[in-house]
Amino acid sequence: MNTTLTRAIVVALCIVWLSLPSQAMTIVPDYVNSAGQTWTSDRIGVIQQSIDDWESNILDDQTVNITFDFTNAGTSGYLATWAGSYYDIPAGTDIYPWTSGVTHTIHFNVDYFDDSSANYTWWDPTPGTSGDQPFAAWDALSVARHELGHALGFATNFFVDNASMGGGIDKWTSHITGTTFDLGGLNVSMAAADNLSHVLDDGSTAGDLMVPALVNNVRRDISTTDLDMLQLAYGYQLVPEPSTLVMLFIGAVGVLVFARRRRQP
Ligand SMILES: [Zn+2]
Repeated sequence: MNTTLTRAIVVALCIVWLSLPSQAMTIVPDYVNSAGQTWTSDRIGVIQQSIDDWESNILDDQTVNITFDFTNAGTSGYLATWAGSYYDIPAGTDIYPWTSGVTHTIHFNVDYFDDSSANYTWWDPTPGTSGDQPFAAWDALSVARHELGHALGFATNFFVDNASMGGGIDKWTSHITGTTFDLGGLNVSMAAADNLSHVLDDGSTAGDLMVPALVNNVRRDISTTDLDMLQLAYGYQLVPEPSTLVMLFIGAVGVLVFARRRRQP
């Protein structure tokens, strides 16, 4: 490979990198001790990992403030829940997760924290690695990722355009026909007609992060489907898939090699 070609490839790779937006979404947690529970370093580590995971996928230069606390919700209900609210937002506002006046709180149900029970919420002390969770564990990292998914848009009749006393135009359900999200496009089956903030735990979305329930001994990641749905509804800028970047690199190198060959006698 001659010097000219080497230099040309290096320049091409730098251009690819520089063309990527440098900003990213920022999720700012506020940890509130409640229901007799405190935010230990292990628990904070799990939440921070879930935040890093979402931030590393969404490039919009926006800040979303989220409160994390604990609640008693019994042993027949949820592992955790997201509660969003807003008030004093001027009529006509297009409401996004970061819009001023929107508040987010994620409550973890402490009634599942008893690690002597058959199943319990488990806070991974090493959330950066997977595959080490106890069989009995409901993985708090998967739970946190799921609830952040709601905060970022898996929600019905909340993030509306042209907000008014009567509601506005819902960015989420306006993409749903029956129980299908983006009919004719992404074609994602939602959980049920009365549960349009989750995807169906069957078919192509079986075991997705955003299905209604989490089984024990399982860790779930943010999926391409989750991101594609959020992008369609809210216009998020997503980080290109690694495979796309590889294709860009190969494409640049291929073009340059081809050009060099053409120059040779
Ligand atoms: Zn949910």
